[in-house]
Amino acid sequence: MFEMGGPLGKGQYGRVYMVRTKCEKFILALKVVAKAQLVSNHNERSIRREIRDSEKSPVHPHILRLYGFFHDETRIFLMLEYAGKGELYKQLYKAHGGFTEERSARYMHQITGAIMYLHSKHIIHRDIKPENLLLTIDDKLKIADFGWSVHSPSDRRKTYCGTLDYIPCEMIEKKGYSSKVDNWALGVLMYEFLSGCAPFARPSDPDEESRKRTQMRVVNVEYSFPAHFSREAKDLIRKASLLQHNPKDRLELCKVLRHPWILRFNPLPP
Ligand code: AMP
Repeated sequence: MFEMGGPLGKGQYGRVYMVRTKCEKFILALKVVAKAQLVSNHNERSIRREIRDSEKSPVHPHILRLYGFFHDETRIFLMLEYAGKGELYKQLYKAHGGFTEERSARYMHQITGAIMYLHSKHIIHRDIKPENLLLTIDDKLKIADFGWSVHSPSDRRKTYCGTLDYIPCEMIEKKGYSSKVDNWALGVLMYEFLSGCAPFARPSDPDEESRKRTQMRVVNVEYSFPAHFSREAKDLIRKASLLQHNPKDRLELCKVLRHPWILRFNPLPP
């Protein structure tokens, strides 16, 4: 069925290869997941469910497609849309000090559109963060973690910034939550795009004490802006989520798309 290309990477559950279909010469990323690994990690049931649900999986230009899957005795093969630039997280790490405002605003526009689409389908994402985003060769962002990407709970951040930042106050306070958790995460993501670091965590070892301190900063919405953030960018971060402890006060996503900072770099078509 496929001509095998080189390996694209290795995750917790197996390797990902670039492949090309023999007939249509269509390039895909083929993720090979070892069944034994899933069983040993108690993830079998969740991947079964997620693959079953894949027929209903969201189709949006900024959500990574799962085209199909097959399996043999020992492995599951997931046919994924190819994202040639790989993980956005790595690009952010390489950018030392964050992306430019132009690049950040382009990504924010793309991901906000994708999250709006999910909300319109009554799906709350709940796990927006750079590790769950891939980039295509032409620099289009793709949300890539709908279970079929089988991302491990990320250890990658330990040396970098905390993922705790992406968990909003209402989840820490165990108050129950709504789709506005995603608005919070978008604000955190925008901050991280622009600075290379998440707003609340400090790049220290995530021991229990520092986790608690980070959670306190989140609940108190205690953070500061680096000097290079523009006035408009700060305005959007505050309105979109960060300074809004109350989920109801977080800016609606359709309004995020019309915010002057987004429009400056993503002008509306004439
Ligand atoms: P994962 O198991 O999802 O963490 O993937 C392991 C590595 O494979 C990642 O670091 C990515 O760089 C790469 N990868 C995963 N999915 C894709 C894809 N759809 N397109 C291109 N590269 C991918």
